[in-house]
Amino acid sequence: MLRTTIVGSLPKPAWLAAPERLWAPWRLEGAELAGGQRDAVLAALKMQEAAGIDVVTDGEQSRQHFVHGFLAAIDGIDFGKRVTIGIRADRYKAEVPTVTAPIQRRRAVHVDEVRWARAHTRHGLKFTLPGPMTIVDTLADEHYRDRRQLAFEFARVLNEEARELETAGADVVQFDEPAFNVYMDDVRDWGIAALERAADGLRCTTAVHICYGYGIRANIEWKQTLGAQWRQYESTFPLLATSRIGQVSVECANSRVPLELLGLLGGKDVQAGVIDVASERVETAEDVAAWIRRVLEHVPAERLLPSTNCGMVPLPRAVALGKIQALGAGARLVRRELGVRE
Ligand code: ZN
Repeated sequence: MLRTTIVGSLPKPAWLAAPERLWAPWRLEGAELAGGQRDAVLAALKMQEAAGIDVVTDGEQSRQHFVHGFLAAIDGIDFGKRVTIGIRADRYKAEVPTVTAPIQRRRAVHVDEVRWARAHTRHGLKFTLPGPMTIVDTLADEHYRDRRQLAFEFARVLNEEARELETAGADVVQFDEPAFNVYMDDVRDWGIAALERAADGLRCTTAVHICYGYGIRANIEWKQTLGAQWRQYESTFPLLATSRIGQVSVECANSRVPLELLGLLGGKDVQAGVIDVASERVETAEDVAAWIRRVLEHVPAERLLPSTNCGMVPLPRAVALGKIQALGAGARLVRRELGVRE
């Protein structure tokens, strides 16, 4: 009960990639890079275990970015043809590759990473993939010229990948769909269907992460335009409640999301963000416990997994470590209050 997890990413060690930025360039190459990534995954696993995180991730230590990591082994995408576009409804600019031919998965992308992580932890293991809508929103497209069709093409190759990750030992496959908080009409029209296609036939736990983005300046400024209450989840949660996705990962701590919206998720398990990733202030265990208690007013303890609001890749490494320690300690406090045996 109250099993803890993190959304996905952790900061990479400074010897592996330039710190505190998205799309950070690697500082190693070739075999040294591959070995460095594996060492960084070991460190990420052990940091989480020591902090009392029950369902751990590889910290996304082997990919430069949560979307473009998966795309590296997908045919039909020209990484040489990079253009700068406004993503997430023009909230910020990103330099993205271009779809120029039919989408096909050339080979497994992340299977070795799951095998490596699986071999080095006995904790529950979650692995994250970008969701179809978010991939489509992080690319230029000169081939399909239809976001819905392109999303289903990606859902097909994501499903091929997810099935292999399950076989390799992932207990949870999570699709990250921050775009679900931006294009709510598309979510209803095709986003949920594309997500279910990506998760089709999986026997492991499936999850979707929907947030207000990394704690970077563009997102913090965007949040200031969203008004006193952030109600984006209000239209999406009822759709997810009747979907085949098992868990929903959401942002709570220090957000303006009315927590009663969590009641719209029906019987789903909820990974609730009780760690704010938009601040470098490290929470105390009591801060975390207070957010868990607030969420417990809307989600029963047996369906609640305390988590972070979003990935932590842009944070200073010591801050991220402090935050996951607070997460573990805060959940322990509340478990003790509820009389749950550890
Ligand atoms: Zn997120």
